Amino acid sequence: MLTESKPEQYLKIRTTKLLINNEWIDSISGKTFKTINPATGEIICEIAEADVRDVDRAVKVARTAFESREWATMSSSNRGKLLYRLANLIEEHADELARLETLDNGKPLTDSLNIDLPLTIACYRYYAGWADKIQGKTLSTNSPFFSYTRHEPIGVIGQIIPWNFPLVMQAWKLAPALAAGNTVVLKPAEQTPLTALRVGELIVEAGFPPGVVNILPGYGPTAGAAIARHADIDKVAFTGSTEVGRLVMEAAAKSNLKRVTLEMGGKSPNIVFADADMDQAIEGAHSALFFNQGQCCAAGSRLFVEEKCYDEFVAKSVERAKQRIVGNPFDAKVEQGPVIDQMQLNKVVSYIESGISEGARLLCGGSQVGNNGFFIEPTVFADVQDYMKIAQEEIFGPVMSIIKFKDIDEVIQRANATIYGLAAGVWTKDISKAHAIINNVRAGTIWVNCYEIFDAAAPFGGFKQSGIGRELGEYGLQEYTEIKTVTIKL
Ligand code: ADP
Repeated sequence: MLTESKPEQYLKIRTTKLLINNEWIDSISGKTFKTINPATGEIICEIAEADVRDVDRAVKVARTAFESREWATMSSSNRGKLLYRLANLIEEHADELARLETLDNGKPLTDSLNIDLPLTIACYRYYAGWADKIQGKTLSTNSPFFSYTRHEPIGVIGQIIPWNFPLVMQAWKLAPALAAGNTVVLKPAEQTPLTALRVGELIVEAGFPPGVVNILPGYGPTAGAAIARHADIDKVAFTGSTEVGRLVMEAAAKSNLKRVTLEMGGKSPNIVFADADMDQAIEGAHSALFFNQGQCCAAGSRLFVEEKCYDEFVAKSVERAKQRIVGNPFDAKVEQGPVIDQMQLNKVVSYIESGISEGARLLCGGSQVGNNGFFIEPTVFADVQDYMKIAQEEIFGPVMSIIKFKDIDEVIQRANATIYGLAAGVWTKDISKAHAIINNVRAGTIWVNCYEIFDAAAPFGGFKQSGIGRELGEYGLQEYTEIKTVTIKL
């Protein structure tokens, strides 16, 4: 049964502490923070709050683990086995984890079950398979020398993740780092610590040696910043806003020049040509924007529609948005749950107000739903102009902006007129138009006649201020190794 009004009453919260050295401990300060159910605004439970001293403790443990015989000399196939075991344990507990994710994040349970959990499990399995296939090259250097490369782990990795896909983001960070033989100090987002901690339990159960994975819930400016500037962390991997990504990179530069990968904001163009299959494009553009309550870094949030089909597209998109079912995320019929918290709700509402005041045409939605929890109506603006705030800044909420365009050169130029470059979509039956977009729009991922399709084998990351480095696929693995060149005189 998916309809449950008080899930927290029967969903047992098993772990609320910090995971350091395979032990569950309180923070040194003894402080805790509250995690909130966004569907009701009620407190779920108190969580141990890590700060700078806990980070320091975890880094020491992770360093010891990195150098330990148990981890450093473990065969790569055994590292892979541990990751497979973790994937299996997550699969066995998929139902519980999906419910926990929905409780803490507010996303519909059907999405947690059918999207987040399968992506998470697939990611651990994918990198489990890589663990014993990480290898260097023999080089054709001049004799009498023989040279080859080794791909070695970087060391202790700090990982900072956001609240929009807590389980998936944890998998994207942990799986490649561990496959390559690193050790990790990971900070989940303060809004959504619950599934990260439950996976922590499964990591211990899978048999990872003490100190290999340490999980420290806490706030960004304290625990997060302590990770970014720690002198004994060798690399930091961050997913979140461009603003905080900049701080992380600055702290990395000022401390020890640790390696940095960043996956940050987006304002992705989703381009619909008049020759596209209209029904497919309308449904695709709808979920490209509204999926996950609009809280996706890759959301198709600048929806460019060709003039010839603009009026029809707008009318049908509004119809579709009006049908979108908003409500209790544990209800199987519900397509849209609450946004993450009061701050996000206020931010989204203020973007809606700015859209109205800048003269965009509000065709549906625009308001909060009820007073309980953080629900926002699916909102559609037409006649959005490029200069408007809603067309330039990341809203991270259920607000669609439909923008008119005339021809292909113009739309490419306008699609690129942004500081971001995370993703783009194009809807057309014309292969030449599709390729013009593929080759000329500057973004890390281009989806053609589909949107937000993710696969553990397909790298994801940003051009421009959307990111540095890639996650997933073989490219994502490379971000967790150092290349060592060996030259031998023969
Ligand atoms: P969002 O806008 O999605 O909440 P943030 O960039 O604020 O994104 O947060 C993403 C992650 O970065 C969270 O885990 C958050 O706690 C962390 N974070 C926030 N501020 C800092 C900071 N100054 N240094 C390091 N991490 C931070």
